[in-house]
Amino acid sequence: MLLKGKPAADIIKDQIIDSIKMLGYKGQILPKIVILRVGERPDDIAYEKRVIKNCETVGLLAEIKALAEDVGIEDFLEVLEKLNMDPNTHGILIFRPLPLNLDIKKISVAIKAEKDIDGMSPTNIAKVFAGDINAMAPCTAEAAVELLKHYYPDLAGKRAVIVNRSMVLGKPLSMLLLRENATVTICHSKTENLAGITSQADIVVTGVGRGRFFGPEYFSKDCIVVDAGINFVDGQLCGDVDFEMTEAKVQAITPVPGGLGAVTSMVLLRNVIKGMQLQGVK
Ligand code: NAP
Repeated sequence: MLLKGKPAADIIKDQIIDSIKMLGYKGQILPKIVILRVGERPDDIAYEKRVIKNCETVGLLAEIKALAEDVGIEDFLEVLEKLNMDPNTHGILIFRPLPLNLDIKKISVAIKAEKDIDGMSPTNIAKVFAGDINAMAPCTAEAAVELLKHYYPDLAGKRAVIVNRSMVLGKPLSMLLLRENATVTICHSKTENLAGITSQADIVVTGVGRGRFFGPEYFSKDCIVVDAGINFVDGQLCGDVDFEMTEAKVQAITPVPGGLGAVTSMVLLRNVIKGMQLQGVK
């Protein structure tokens, strides 16, 4: 089975549209996100365009705050604090990676948790680890669970292996899958006998950032594969899994493109609505 992202994303999209309409009926101001971008990296600008288009689709306002490549941490934090305090800004999206001089730890602490739609603040991470269902989790991690549950509503007891231990994917995802009562294993670059571990799993989520790294030998025939990788090989977008070689063997797999990305985009925008409720805008 092909685990396409669009059907799951469309359901979230409709929920967001309904929530925004409801806010409109109650006479509230339109929800707005501000994208904080440093520099002019082409992939940031491409992502920015996608976010703006998605915002338009659901009826969210989007504004760009572009800062110079050499912006200092103090100036960055000043801009961030203004957005934290602005009652007309309901969600803040900071593009990463940031230049090295901008300490991500200071920024993660400074962003107001209720506006942190990308789930980077320690408050939101703590909520994810505490199993709070209202947590604003890092979007790709949440999207992976959302996509899985769309096709497999009951994840209880499933053996899930995540090949990634980053704060944007593997660590929060392990907590979200635990909340669903899956039995979770995290693997990384120092894991020995990776294929031996993944081939025992009911679910494998890959996020190593290496194009077509995983072939069919990594999976059992009953495996559900969620590929979070975004890579370019010979100018072509592909996941971490060799899709052509693997698709016929496994029970289900996400395509890249067409899989997790669409769900991630909608989870990001849903976080604006979640955040507004936390900000008391109902
Ligand atoms: P990252 O911080 O570089 O993490 C990569 C992870 O893969 C690390 O835990 C690393 O292990 C592990 N790894 C690398 N090579 C490995 C190997 N040979 N065997 C086993 N594990 C290995 O990257 P990230 O930011 O989490 O992103 C990972 C991928 O997800 C990228 O392709 C990125 O584009 C994609 N991504 C997708 C979305 C989406 O919306 N679909 C969003 C964000 C990221 P160590 O910890 O030991 O180094």
